[in-house]
Amino acid sequence: MDSIAKALVFDGQVKVVAFKTTDLVNEAIDLHGLSPLAAEALGKVLTMAAYMSGELKGEKEKLSVHVQDKGVLGSIIVAADSGAKVRGYVEHKDATLPPLGNGKQDLFKGIGNEGFITVIKDLGLKDPYVGKTELVRGNLEEDFAWYFTRSEGSPTALALEVLIGEDGKCTSAGGVLVQPMPGCPDHILVVVEDIVSGFANIGEILKSKEPSDILKDYFGHFEIEYFPETKPCYRCKCSREQMSNAVITLGRGDSVNLLMERGEIEVLCHFCGKKYIFTKQDVIDIWRKYDHKV
Ligand SMILES: [Zn+2]
Repeated sequence: MDSIAKALVFDGQVKVVAFKTTDLVNEAIDLHGLSPLAAEALGKVLTMAAYMSGELKGEKEKLSVHVQDKGVLGSIIVAADSGAKVRGYVEHKDATLPPLGNGKQDLFKGIGNEGFITVIKDLGLKDPYVGKTELVRGNLEEDFAWYFTRSEGSPTALALEVLIGEDGKCTSAGGVLVQPMPGCPDHILVVVEDIVSGFANIGEILKSKEPSDILKDYFGHFEIEYFPETKPCYRCKCSREQMSNAVITLGRGDSVNLLMERGEIEVLCHFCGKKYIFTKQDVIDIWRKYDHKV
């Protein structure tokens, strides 16, 4: 079962988080009909957004992650609410490239390494937090590590894998993130680096271990403080009311033209694939309500 397990080790000097998101990635594959390449890429961004939103403090806090480059997948967009509730989509969900083997896809060509990761956090303040870093490798693992290090000022070691089987389903997804706190002494950093090097095949490790087992097995013999686990999940918040805004965005002329042409207006939610149908009467009501407001 998917979970995010977190602990502080070495007397609070190092934060360790292990996460498993296999079910989450499979839900995205089922909802969107993702190619294996799109599944690995979106799966990794969903996983990192689940981790980041699990760290949000307030219930109403939320964030979005946008990965944009020139690769065949196009843009990847993920939105997340506090408590690791995520949703997302990839621009070209059918894009394929020859796989690299062992369940891994060619993300370097799929994404690229000239674009950016942009994270916007709405923390309930006047202005949102905006963090942006360049993609350094296009595999998303090193790119997110660089994002945390550079943009959030937290030097980070990250192991992140999404493995896709022959049948197009995710066989294992998740990772381990390690962040030393400021001032962490060198002798502890050396020990941590040694442990982190053992997570190169984290996808395989997660097939037989839960995130809580990983914390216990690799860090449990040091002084350790465990935190309550979070359960990541795929959750779209779209509603008929929100989608009716798409009719307004179309404009009065185009919405009437579309009605004449098709008899109804269909609006698709990119995040979950749900279709919303607006009849002639619905559209009249939407515009009447809009006129009433302005
Ligand atoms: Zn939706």
